[in-house]
Amino acid sequence: MTKFSNKKSLGQNFLTNENIARQIVMSANLTSSNNVIEIGPGEGILTKHLAGSGAHVLAIEIDQRLIESLKKNFENIEIIEGDILKIDLPRLIEGNNFENYKVVANLPYYITSKIIRLLLETKYPPSGMILMVQKEVGERIIALDGKESLLSISVKFYADPEILFEVPRENFDPTPEVDSVVIKIKRKNNPPEADASEFFRLVRAGFSAKRKMLVNNLADLGHPKAELLDILKKAGLESTIRAEKLSVEDWVKLCNNFQLK
Ligand code: SAM
Repeated sequence: MTKFSNKKSLGQNFLTNENIARQIVMSANLTSSNNVIEIGPGEGILTKHLAGSGAHVLAIEIDQRLIESLKKNFENIEIIEGDILKIDLPRLIEGNNFENYKVVANLPYYITSKIIRLLLETKYPPSGMILMVQKEVGERIIALDGKESLLSISVKFYADPEILFEVPRENFDPTPEVDSVVIKIKRKNNPPEADASEFFRLVRAGFSAKRKMLVNNLADLGHPKAELLDILKKAGLESTIRAEKLSVEDWVKLCNNFQLK
C-alpha cells in the first residue's frame, strides 16, 4: 500500500510485483559501465533493481512528495525533481556525461506517446529503451494488426520496436482499467536516408484524415492530384492506398520522390 493518495492525474499506477520489476530491469542488459535514465521512479520499485545493476542511474520524478524518500533510499542515484517534457534534457545529459545511455521506465500513461517522441527526437537519444506502456499503445507502436499510425511510423523511423512481455493489470496499485506490455525500442544504427522534417511533414499530412485515401490527404500539401498520383506510382504504391498500409520504407520512397519535384 502506498503511504499517500496516488495522483491519478500523474498516471501513478505503481508496479507491485518484484519479479516483474526484476524482469524489466534484466531486459535492459545493464552493466556497471552503463548509464540509465529512469522516468517517473515513483516509490522506486524499478529504481532499486536499476541501482542493484551497478549502472549509473539518473531518475526524473515530477511529484515533489516522492522526492525526499527517493533521495533517502537511493543515495547513489541522482534524483531530479522535474517534468520530463519540460526539463532541458540535453543540458542534463551533458552535465552528467550521459551522452550514451539507456532509458528504463514504467511510463505515466497520459503522456506515453509524447515521452517516446521526445526521446527519439532529442539531441542525445538513448541507444535503447525498455518501457512499460499500456497494452493497446504497445500494440499500436508495433502495428500488430497491420495498421501503421503516426506513432508507429515515428518510432520505426528511428528504431526497431518489439513487445517483450505482457503485464496484467492486477500487478499495479491502484489497479488500472487496462493491461500493460513491456516493450523494447532499440535505436537503429543507420536511420533511413530521408530528411526527417520533410519525412514527418509528409507522414503527418498522410495521416491527417483517417478514412481518406492517402492521395486525398496529401492534396492538402498543395500539390495537384495528378502530380500526386504520379509520385505514388513512382514509389510503387497503388493510387487508392491508405496511409496505414505504408511501411517506413514506403514513406521514404515517397518522400524522396517528393523532393525530386
Ligand atoms: N516507476 C514506478 C513504478 O513502476 O511503480 C512509478 C510508475 S507510474 C506509472 C509513473 C510515474 O511517473 C509516477 O511516479 C509519476 O509521478 C511520474 N510522472 C508523471 N508525469 C511525469 C512527468 N511529466 N515527468 C516525470 N515524471 C512523471
